[in-house]
Amino acid sequence: MRIVLFAFVIAARLPAQQITALRFGHMVDASGRSTPDAVIVVQGDTIVSVGSGSRAVPAGARVVDLRRYTAIPGLIDVHTHMTYWRDKANPSVPGPRSKDSVVMAAAANALKTLETGVTTVRDLGASNYTDIAMRDSINKGVMIGPRMFVAGFGLSKLMVPRETTPSVPARGRVRDTAEIRVAIKAQVDAGADWIKMYGSSGSFQNVTGVQTFTDDEMRVAAEVAHSYHKPIAIHSYGESGGRAAMRAGAESVEHPAGVDDATLAEWARTRTMYVPTIDHNRFYAENAALLGYNAKQVAELDSFRLLNLATARRANAAGIKLAMGSDAVYWMFGENTRELGWFVKAGMSPAQSLATATTNAAELLGLPTKLGKIAPGFYADIVAVEGDPLRDINVVIDKVRWVMKGGLVVVDKRTP
Ligand SMILES: [Zn+2]
Repeated sequence: MRIVLFAFVIAARLPAQQITALRFGHMVDASGRSTPDAVIVVQGDTIVSVGSGSRAVPAGARVVDLRRYTAIPGLIDVHTHMTYWRDKANPSVPGPRSKDSVVMAAAANALKTLETGVTTVRDLGASNYTDIAMRDSINKGVMIGPRMFVAGFGLSKLMVPRETTPSVPARGRVRDTAEIRVAIKAQVDAGADWIKMYGSSGSFQNVTGVQTFTDDEMRVAAEVAHSYHKPIAIHSYGESGGRAAMRAGAESVEHPAGVDDATLAEWARTRTMYVPTIDHNRFYAENAALLGYNAKQVAELDSFRLLNLATARRANAAGIKLAMGSDAVYWMFGENTRELGWFVKAGMSPAQSLATATTNAAELLGLPTKLGKIAPGFYADIVAVEGDPLRDINVVIDKVRWVMKGGLVVVDKRTP
């Protein structure tokens, strides 16, 4: 009698635990395998089974017919700046300033990101812990957006003598290893999942890649981050900073172009992920007029992008693992996955390109058994695309029709 009553209480408390069977024309993943007549069974926020044909549909399950579409795993963008918001209609007007208004504006970026099939992001740098506020709001279900892993303030080098400024690092700006330690602890205490370090100049219209932190400072930063069990991503546009970041033991190196063959060979022997972010310089060049960039700057953005593409091609050939990072800011959200097209131009198959936004990215985030695959025990992060992504990567980029994140449908653009 007690057991029956207990079971009743459990059932009453878990109304969301209904079993749903999603039927797809095909299901594909980064291994290049394609399963016809796929059935994905979801309970709560998790995939419980995957099969094929009517017999894979459990009795009593709610069935969602998506047989017109192909299922791919929810995508992961490992480099965003979700809280960088500007109005495309008034691009010269700075974005909101107060913490609350930044978070509310950034909610639009979160929605546009979901529409690209991206259900998880690593957000690499934000002011005033707005990224932490967003992450927590999304996790609580009060904001709709991708699952976020965030870094708080990125650490950047403050190039002024200690005497002229207060000694407490503010806004992540640090001068030496002592301040690096303080700043990393501050991000960890605030609730950051990752540490971000800007190891070279270069951002927006500026593509100079001058190393800012020394090799030793990067090594200390990686050691301190790891002592708190936090991974570290180091930004470097230039070659020397990229090499130093890789040698420092960063989990990922962001952006570098023009890396030499000897460094790529050494890199391939490490577990460091390369996040080229080729496409964001396309965005800046295409939006130069709105952003106020001049013709010389556009030419520099274009030549950096070509060098970045060539480096990605050589890195991929050398056996280095790549992950998809858009480096999206402003109104680039909604274009998060265009990077995948550059990876195919760099010599990857569509399946290999898909891996950069699924299995490779999940490995980088330390969640290879929860993210990046459609398999039992993984989060029910599933995207319906129209067409065959193994033949044409543009199917992933342009043909997203429906998105489930953690068992909830967050985008539905199916035509009746
Ligand atoms: Zn960035």
